[in-house]
Amino acid sequence: MSKSIVFLADGMADDPLPELGGLSPLEHVSTPNMDKIARMGASGTFLTLPEPFPTSSDVANLSVLGYNLAECYPGRGPLEAAAIGIELGENDIAFRCNLVTAKDGILEDYSAGHIKSEKSVRIFEDLQKKFGCGKVSFHPGVSYRNIIVLHGREFSDSVNYHKPDSSQGEPLSSLRLSPADQSDSSACTVSFLESLCAECADFLAKHPLNKDCENPANMIWPWSPGKKPRLPAFKDKYCGIRGAVISAVDVIFGIAKCASMTQIRVPGATGFIDTNYEGKAEAAVRALEDHDFVFLHVEAIDECSHMGDLALKLKAISDFDSRIVGPVLKALDGKDVTFAILPDHPVPVHLKKHTRTPVPFAIWGRHIKRDSLDSYSERLAPAGGLGFLKGDQFMKKVFNLPGSEVPAIKSPQG
Ligand SMILES: [Zn+2]
Repeated sequence: MSKSIVFLADGMADDPLPELGGLSPLEHVSTPNMDKIARMGASGTFLTLPEPFPTSSDVANLSVLGYNLAECYPGRGPLEAAAIGIELGENDIAFRCNLVTAKDGILEDYSAGHIKSEKSVRIFEDLQKKFGCGKVSFHPGVSYRNIIVLHGREFSDSVNYHKPDSSQGEPLSSLRLSPADQSDSSACTVSFLESLCAECADFLAKHPLNKDCENPANMIWPWSPGKKPRLPAFKDKYCGIRGAVISAVDVIFGIAKCASMTQIRVPGATGFIDTNYEGKAEAAVRALEDHDFVFLHVEAIDECSHMGDLALKLKAISDFDSRIVGPVLKALDGKDVTFAILPDHPVPVHLKKHTRTPVPFAIWGRHIKRDSLDSYSERLAPAGGLGFLKGDQFMKKVFNLPGSEVPAIKSPQG
């Protein structure tokens, strides 16, 4: 069987933009390497964010890897908890917990100005010292992406929450947690978290690291709770295929850990536009020596899209093509490797949030019948030879496994 690499450009897909003459960012930027994958292979569209699951990157990346969400979606909190080595007990509920900036009763910034880890780790350690107890613990992650765990039978993961990156600019009064069912445990969890958040806000308002800060980390924001994850191992799911995951962000490593895939951390990988692109590309080529499959995830484009910064998004797409995809294609030139490119979900810059629109993908491999498309884009992919895929069909198509031969139906996008 061929070896394979999936290039995952988080949040890359977008809409046609008037300021780009009706082109999408992906169409506007010169991307010869992604275009090569489309030209040498075939394109299609893939549903990564099906209803009723949240429009979150963990859902989208689990979809790309072909996991059955209805059977095994654990919530983002538990996946990121796994990534940072937190072993959840049977009565533990893990929440992803952002450090955010609130101003004048509005959620101003979901990332507290992309707070540096040196600061966020100290703040989370201080929160643990002040508020950590038998019922709650605070665990620092990377930058604004942290974890809290509630301990005890009285708590539930049945809580309605607002995704902070989808709620910027909205009044805090409209973004409160609420019980998702009638149970006592659901109500108890919401009331416990509401008081905890209020106490933390008072504490953070006076925290020395927030002094003279343009985007102070003045609130914690718990969301996407869940219990200990139970995912089948990737290699058991796909005929023994040994997979490795390269990323900078905990949620992707959490998926890797829960799927028993190798996690490769590259020095200088930041999850932003200053990431070590070259290091990640080299790591992917190296990982393919002793793995069958590499999932190479890059977060930067997603972050630029959430910021609504079109110029930065264009640069991040260009960097992704020239500094990730290009060097990997070059290093593996002439080898029997299947290459696939896709985003996990769109983040249109004018919306600054994820949408459920199926994503464009392209696959180039020995087993893929070339179609007539000569470039990779949202506009062209729906007319590609691989049609509209969902569930585990994308991954099976990459691996050329039975079950990938789906009738090519027209994408709902096209
Ligand atoms: Zn994403």
